[in-house]
Amino acid sequence: MNPFPRRSILSSSVGAAGGLAAAAIARAQGVLQPAHQGVGASDPGPRDPVRDAENPDILNPPLTDQGTLPNLRFSFADSHMRQTDGGWTRQITQRELGVSTTIAGVNMRLKAGGTRELHWHKEGEWSYMLYGSARITAVDQNGRNFVDDVHEGDLWYFPSGVPHSIQGLNDDGCEFLLVFDDGSFNEESTFLLNDWFRHIPPEVLGKNFGQPASMFGNTPPEERRYIFALPVPGALDADRIEGNGRVPESFSYRLLQQAPQKLPHGQVRIVDSTNFKASKTISAALVEVEPGGMRELHWHPNAAEWQYYLAGEGRMGVFASGGNARTFDFRAGDVGYVPFAMGHYIENIGSSTLRFLEMFRSPTFADISLNQWLALTPRELVQGHLDLGDQFTGHLDQTKHPVV
Ligand code: MN
Ligand code: MN
Repeated sequence: MNPFPRRSILSSSVGAAGGLAAAAIARAQGVLQPAHQGVGASDPGPRDPVRDAENPDILNPPLTDQGTLPNLRFSFADSHMRQTDGGWTRQITQRELGVSTTIAGVNMRLKAGGTRELHWHKEGEWSYMLYGSARITAVDQNGRNFVDDVHEGDLWYFPSGVPHSIQGLNDDGCEFLLVFDDGSFNEESTFLLNDWFRHIPPEVLGKNFGQPASMFGNTPPEERRYIFALPVPGALDADRIEGNGRVPESFSYRLLQQAPQKLPHGQVRIVDSTNFKASKTISAALVEVEPGGMRELHWHPNAAEWQYYLAGEGRMGVFASGGNARTFDFRAGDVGYVPFAMGHYIENIGSSTLRFLEMFRSPTFADISLNQWLALTPRELVQGHLDLGDQFTGHLDQTKHPVV
């Protein structure tokens, strides 16, 4: 067994930032060495002890790990932070996490009144509110209007090409996670209202809007909008414009009002186009795993998985076929990825609840449970493969338990 339990190392690093660095460095230099279970050796040369302490399963992989997998983890803490007077934004796309071809993510903060400029883009946009409140607006191709206020745990979905905005509300604005259905998405390359106005001749703008050309030509530059300060909007009802009616499928969804599937060691909420009808390209699960619990061994038959870790500490083991398997460590603010169809599990290795989102570029959520598969396969066939006898096959469970 590992003589240096990672739980004691990691649990000491949850405190204040200064304490984290000092404690992690001291413990990593003094204790955490790339040697365990009779293999490896100490690391006397240059090293980054904080990184080592954050990635104990990279430094000391389980002996079942083998071979080469692409990197399956990237932290928003390693993403460039674009700051403006209205808030900030940072992204994890295929450029940061090379394996992530299907999905890209953005983490954005808007101060009260802070506004993400009116814009649209080629990708569908799914979002989870992490903190605070926002007013979101959109208009669809039939001129139908959508305005709503969203709060922590709420979702929204804007279909590809539909123009929209996001604005922070009182008291302290908001923070949210955006998920786009294309890994090559770039938050810097969306179609911005002001950007277009600045690149249309004033005469053309005048002709389009039935106004004198002299009215135009002074549009503020893109770098002064994008995310910028505005007064906090008033009551929601006053912002609802009913001209052509509302969009037929709401672009928002209250995920935390959905009753979770409760399990002995955690709970799960699944949201896709069957219950959040507007969300045609992204499906998701909000998973909570109690200490000692685990997201069971499973895989997804329809799409790769993009993960965002909300709280706690976990580690994920991924099986890539051909004898290849790797283990990665995660904490709040990290992004994980599971390439299409690869088997995996996620263990809570901390002392508090592990909460994370699984997202898929698919209209519906689907997973295949290893346990359920074997339980519903002829017993002699399973025993012939694994040499585990009646005690193993007798305890297999025909009911799926996402968290065990
Ligand atoms: Mn957008
Ligand atoms: Mn999964």
